[in-house]
Amino acid sequence: MEKKNNHKIGVFPGSFDPFTLGHEAIVKKALTLFDEIIIGIGVNQNKNYLFDLEKRKTHIASLFPNENVQIQTYSGLTIEFCKSVGANHIIRGLRDVKDFDYEKSIAQMNLMLAPIETVFILTDLNYSAINATIVREIYKSKGDISLFVSNAHLLS
Ligand code: ADP
Repeated sequence: MEKKNNHKIGVFPGSFDPFTLGHEAIVKKALTLFDEIIIGIGVNQNKNYLFDLEKRKTHIASLFPNENVQIQTYSGLTIEFCKSVGANHIIRGLRDVKDFDYEKSIAQMNLMLAPIETVFILTDLNYSAINATIVREIYKSKGDISLFVSNAHLLS
């Protein structure tokens, strides 16, 4: 349901397997643009995740104790999730041109499906190398992921 009083809600969707310092910085920047951010953990039955869904949720919640950030899980189309929570904007982080090329098509196709705009936020230079896939590889090889993930102990 659309909330009244121009309460602006942005959905930040992703798999967040795990939620890195890069994701955290994007949410903090997005909070300067929106009244409320809903971090939507997308669940795809055909995908194997390394970190358990409940652990990912608890971990992300520990980073944002404030009530203007909510964590929800969803399956299916992101635009349908946005509609269900009354959000007109999707937030995505951009690290490089590869992210841009991929994200541009998704954003434009989403816009053909529903009047939901995607807002891109550039990552800070010091986080642009952080990639969840590589963080997972480091974790699987028993490396220290605390350089890339806040409160990493909550994921073990
Ligand atoms: P997905 O699997 O949908 O790409 P991710 O969990 O990998 O989901 O990422 C969610 C969002 O966070 C995407 O917009 C992605 O570009 C962005 N992102 C990922 N890593 C970073 C980073 N280091 N800095 C900024 N944005 C990032």
